Amino acid sequence: MYFQYSCPMFSMESENFQWKTSNAFDKCNKIKQKIMNKRKHFHLCCAVFLISGLLFFSSLSAQENAPILFTNANIIDGVSDKIISNASLLVENGKIKTISTSPIEAPSGAQVFDLQGKHLMPGLIDAHVHLRDFASAERALVSGVTTARSMGVSHFMDVGMRELSKAGKIDAPEVLAAGYHIRLRPADELFMNHPELHDWIGKDVKGVEAMKKLADIMASHKVDWIKTNATARAGLPQTDPREPYYIESEMKALVSAGAQNNIPVAAHAHGDEGGRAAVLGGVRSIEHGTYLSEETLKLMAERGTYLVPTIAVVNDLTEPGGDYDQPLLMIRGRHMLPRVRAMARNAHRLGVKIVAATDTGYGANSTLRLGQELEELVGIGMSNLEVIQAATSRAAELLRVDDHTGKIAEGMDADLLIIERNPLENIGAVYDPLMIVNDGKIIVNRLTW
Ligand SMILES: [Zn+2]
Repeated sequence: MYFQYSCPMFSMESENFQWKTSNAFDKCNKIKQKIMNKRKHFHLCCAVFLISGLLFFSSLSAQENAPILFTNANIIDGVSDKIISNASLLVENGKIKTISTSPIEAPSGAQVFDLQGKHLMPGLIDAHVHLRDFASAERALVSGVTTARSMGVSHFMDVGMRELSKAGKIDAPEVLAAGYHIRLRPADELFMNHPELHDWIGKDVKGVEAMKKLADIMASHKVDWIKTNATARAGLPQTDPREPYYIESEMKALVSAGAQNNIPVAAHAHGDEGGRAAVLGGVRSIEHGTYLSEETLKLMAERGTYLVPTIAVVNDLTEPGGDYDQPLLMIRGRHMLPRVRAMARNAHRLGVKIVAATDTGYGANSTLRLGQELEELVGIGMSNLEVIQAATSRAAELLRVDDHTGKIAEGMDADLLIIERNPLENIGAVYDPLMIVNDGKIIVNRLTW
């Protein structure tokens, strides 16, 4: 005799179970009944949760749209080192409506916060991240990052995340998406998304035509940036980050194909040869730049190429735990850390535009936050103001979002941090903000204690 239905105790049909069938059927029926009862209970619970959830969120969204008035703020605008003291700032419809040193009358229904001299500054911009899920995006946001440039993920997840964030459906920073890394050996997933590229599987993807094709594919997915690897990676023990991947003509082809769709190119580059090919090819930013020579850095200063040195992630290589936890990479990190610090110091001295970024995925085990990079940038000789700009107004300029975020000014998105101490005096003040506002929505509020 065969079991007629799938039972949690015996999911396979077999004559071998005949000797226990009647007993088993009894048990199965009992279990089935229990499950049915539990399911009923579960459905009831779900309904109750759903209704209370909807009520909760509708009250929350009513609050979200409510204007916010901050009084007695010390405003650091992300552009200058002149603090606007005793200021009031009004947020309406997700934007900064008014900034004034004379009192502003609170509109009806406004939430009012007397900041008692605490500092108000723009939300941070992390110019190089790899967010792969909602929880990671939320971790970035609650660390004070209200804008993030995604520099390589699979399945164009960042394009979707950008749209969900824009629509206010998830708590996430504003996302600038780049889709896949364009590199010699693209991720397997690219071939699953685009099986027509099958001839490239297992081969080095090189040459002007290939670069054009890949740029067009990225553009068809509506990316904001094209990310390429001009040299090998540092984060794998078997690759040498000094190895160049592309020559100048390939970089030029990629940059001009991107430009046809108004998409700038960012190039991961550690080694000098690949880095210089990327700069000469016309990329907008060099990511990392560990071994860039003085000659290449001078070229960057001349051409206005941005540098995103991501020093703190190299520090992460040298330590157990965190984003990278691999003994051989700890040795590599010890070699790279003094080099990347010296290169960034040199770049700053030569007038290269420097932007802050973590290069983290904000995963559950990551101990990397933008504050560490800001401390590194102070360490290479940048002033606190320059470092704040590197994570706000200057970063917004690199990302081409400076028309709506990256500084405190009327008409800008209400992307705000409230912090206890003055970051112009102590850059570590940006850790653990007391309040985080993202597009006018209060994400974190620790002002009450
Ligand atoms: Zn990266």
